[in-house]
Amino acid sequence: MNATTRVKPNWVDFHCHLDLYPDHAALIEECDQEGVATLTVTTTPKAWARNRDMAAHAKHVRVALGLHPQLVGERESEIVLFESLLSEARYVGEVGLDASPRFYRNFAAQERVFERVLRACAEHGDKVLTVHSVRSVSKVLGHVEKSLPPGRGRVVLHWFTGSLSEARRAIDLGCYFSINSEMLKGPRHRALVEQLPVERILTETDGPFVQSNGVAVRPRAVADTVINLALVKGLNPSVMAALILRNLSGLLSR
Ligand code: MN
Repeated sequence: MNATTRVKPNWVDFHCHLDLYPDHAALIEECDQEGVATLTVTTTPKAWARNRDMAAHAKHVRVALGLHPQLVGERESEIVLFESLLSEARYVGEVGLDASPRFYRNFAAQERVFERVLRACAEHGDKVLTVHSVRSVSKVLGHVEKSLPPGRGRVVLHWFTGSLSEARRAIDLGCYFSINSEMLKGPRHRALVEQLPVERILTETDGPFVQSNGVAVRPRAVADTVINLALVKGLNPSVMAALILRNLSGLLSR
């Protein structure tokens, strides 16, 4: 096996918080060993430097620069740090909007921050964003339409829970969807995932927030999500796995 084939991943976890597990370094090693192309997101730009350094020599782990919408209430001023670090990062996340009851009082601040994130990404170009859109898909898409023109950046909607018409609007905008195990549990979301074009689908864990039997899922658990997705889509699991890898290559091609 030559160096080129060896670095090809087997799986994709396009949204995970490796720095929120107690064994961050061991997880990076595990992703490399299992061949899980993992995007580890950060929730504050203050976490960027440490995450970047820890994954500096990883084959399969990439780090995203983020400012989580649920933290914007206390951390809006950190958008300045985000903007100053953006030239170092190809990947951006976790960013987005959250209109659930606990965070809705900060929604105006979240919109200000998200708008600046999108404008900065558009200005730099070629960023890939993993975006949170809890109860706010149409707002998120409106901001993307307004401030991140096609060709200036790419958006992956993480843990999408919007309606079918919102999904169609996102597809028309060129968005991808990263699917986790929780999204495939209920019939409503399974039916929605069934409607998504297979060429826009990626997998994610959103660990450690997603758990299985009370234990935080690890990136390698995307293998089970691929099997589940294959069932939803009526495909052979190995075909599904190959499609997801191809989708990742397409997403990242410049
Ligand atoms: Mn997350």
